[in-house]
Amino acid sequence: MFQPKTTIEPFRVKVVEPLPVRTRVQRAKALADANLNLFSVPAKEVTIDLMTDSGTSAMSQEQWAAIFRGDESYAGASSYFRFRDVVRQLTGMHHVIPVHQGRAAERILFSVVGGEGKTIPANTHFDTTRANVEASGAVAVDLVIEEGRSPSAEHPFKGNLDVVALKKLLEQHAASVPMVVVTITNNSGGGQPVSLENMRQVREACDLFDIPLFLDCARFAENSWFIRERESGQEKRSPKDIAEEMFRLADGAWMSAKKDAFGNIGGFLALKDDALAEQCRNILILTEGFPTYGGLAGRDLEALAVGLEEVLAEDYLEYRIRSTHYVWCKLDEAGVPLLRPAGGHAVYLDAREFLPHVPPSQLPGQTISAALFLEGGVRACEIGTVMFGSTQDDGTQSPGPMDLVRLAIPRRVYTQSHMDYVIEVVRYVFDHRKKLGGLLIQNEPPALRHFTCGFEPIGWDPFAALD
Ligand SMILES: *Cc1c(COP(=O)(O)O)cnc(C)c1O
Repeated sequence: MFQPKTTIEPFRVKVVEPLPVRTRVQRAKALADANLNLFSVPAKEVTIDLMTDSGTSAMSQEQWAAIFRGDESYAGASSYFRFRDVVRQLTGMHHVIPVHQGRAAERILFSVVGGEGKTIPANTHFDTTRANVEASGAVAVDLVIEEGRSPSAEHPFKGNLDVVALKKLLEQHAASVPMVVVTITNNSGGGQPVSLENMRQVREACDLFDIPLFLDCARFAENSWFIRERESGQEKRSPKDIAEEMFRLADGAWMSAKKDAFGNIGGFLALKDDALAEQCRNILILTEGFPTYGGLAGRDLEALAVGLEEVLAEDYLEYRIRSTHYVWCKLDEAGVPLLRPAGGHAVYLDAREFLPHVPPSQLPGQTISAALFLEGGVRACEIGTVMFGSTQDDGTQSPGPMDLVRLAIPRRVYTQSHMDYVIEVVRYVFDHRKKLGGLLIQNEPPALRHFTCGFEPIGWDPFAALD
């Protein structure tokens, strides 16, 4: 029987959106105007936008069709019930609270269970999660396994939570721990999956101390696919079956539906506990909206209900993980230092290895991101010292745990030739890396500084030609 080697995109194109094509001179101006911060560059200057896979998916014809069924009634819209039933079936959780995006769920949840004196352990808190935990006055503790902290370590489930460390923390501080969080996949740790076995062990540890387990499940479908591919005994199960089991290990979950629900906006908080759900709904009404829309339009809820089911299709997930792996392999073959192994939604460059002559305190990931944009119009995202480090009293930078540059791949948006172009741009910058230098932070805001700060070169010209 014919066994194809090529994994094709399991869709064809029906509507097209022109790509911005710009010159290096135009990009240099945009980058200078943005003070070298890619978040301040207008999208019309970006040719291939890999800043994030969040809210950037292409919706399917079924999602667009569902949009026409959107019921915009203020209370009790049919769109809410369709959405609720899909989330209930997936998670097994009774209370389904729609929110406008993941961080709204985080703010609501942590303003109820967080606060001064509380500790929230996770494999790794995503940046908005950490910010919301800390804004409540609580402490966010990252307990990812040892391998998950080293970009070059090989492990099939680098997102796993260190259960020994968790038990130790719970033995000492259980009374101040309102929940344990498992992020699937582990976004800040490189889109690395968490095994079913690990989730079961975390569940057992939580049971010993009677503490609820929550999933931050933005990429639950990609995590399910990795479990099927990498965990023994799971290879014959459907991604849906695996996803349903993951959720049934937890007491609650929140999702940024801008990821694995193919939504351009949206999210939810799903809970088992009646009292907690009531407290969360009270805050929801105050700031997001009535509990049957939570800040979303009825049409958004419809699109998400369809997306949450589509994302578990095997042909889609196979294409998704393989196409990310394709980019990873081509860059690896070219000797570009990468976080290993390939993650689900993104390929991460290891900036410390990529620019060994630029110390972490001089923001090597930001330098690489600026160069990828200037040379090729590719927009990536620094996930390193700019995002997770901090400025010390003497003005120097205390580095983040790793310095990565994330090339996040929007779902169903770019084709293989777009990715071949990206590979060329990264290789070009890598081949000329000796010309690149370090950066300083300017205009630092009090929180989530990476979104709005500016950068200044330390004794080099970031706009000079590389060859
Ligand atoms: C994106 C994301 C969030 C935050 O969701 P938003 O929709 O961007 O507010 C939280 N956790 C994880 C793991 C994410 O990937």
